[in-house]
Amino acid sequence: MDTTAKRIAENLADIRQRIARAAARSGRTAADIRLVAGTKYVGPDLIRLLVEAGCVDLGESRPQALWDKAAALADLNVTWHLVGHLQRNKVRRTLPLVSLIHSVDSPRLAEAIDAEAAALSRRVDVLLEINVSGEAAKHGALPDEAAALLAVAAAQPRLNVRGLMTMARLEGDAAAARADFARLRQLRDELAGRCPPNVQLTELSMGMSGDFAEAIEEGATIVRIGSALFEGIA
Ligand SMILES: *Cc1c(COP(=O)(O)O)cnc(C)c1O
Repeated sequence: MDTTAKRIAENLADIRQRIARAAARSGRTAADIRLVAGTKYVGPDLIRLLVEAGCVDLGESRPQALWDKAAALADLNVTWHLVGHLQRNKVRRTLPLVSLIHSVDSPRLAEAIDAEAAALSRRVDVLLEINVSGEAAKHGALPDEAAALLAVAAAQPRLNVRGLMTMARLEGDAAAARADFARLRQLRDELAGRCPPNVQLTELSMGMSGDFAEAIEEGATIVRIGSALFEGIA
């Protein structure tokens, strides 16, 4: 095996082991946590090596990059996730490619996705992105907007609202990240009590390379890991 492929496989094995240990600390197993590889730093060739190593959930932050990489890797059996901001004029091209949109951040976007889903006669799994730390540089509904966003999203006939997503504050240590993740879990628990019966907020998409252990300990069901997978590769 070439050294790049070997390094990626080693990084993946190491991350899976750390996921399993964090899951055990939260009374769960590795099977309860889905690893979505953040692929924004790398091109199709490295992504291909990652898929060959066994990681088939891929997440892109920018719709245009997702379109390009999905086309370049169309021969592979992978599942794409959109983890970054989705502009309404990019919904049409994105929808046929993705299995989960992590980043529904406004009622208008929820309505736009539903309209396109109707045109495709399919349903779409989505998460609501919440800006728990309230930083101006980040996308996501503020915590006090979350109930209104959920009400609109849950009323769209073609959307399956599966849970919530967040990014921890940009400036802050592990303890600050943990507090943001705990806040998302609490918000989920509050909203779950007020959800229509057809909506179950089971998924919490939170945790990246630097803070996924804390996120899992606080209840993450999906972690989005990019740079750590590609560490040590020129
Ligand atoms: C880039 C990105 C990630 C992965 O970040 P790393 O720190 O490289 O693991 C996860 N989620 C989102 C939304 C991202 O944009």
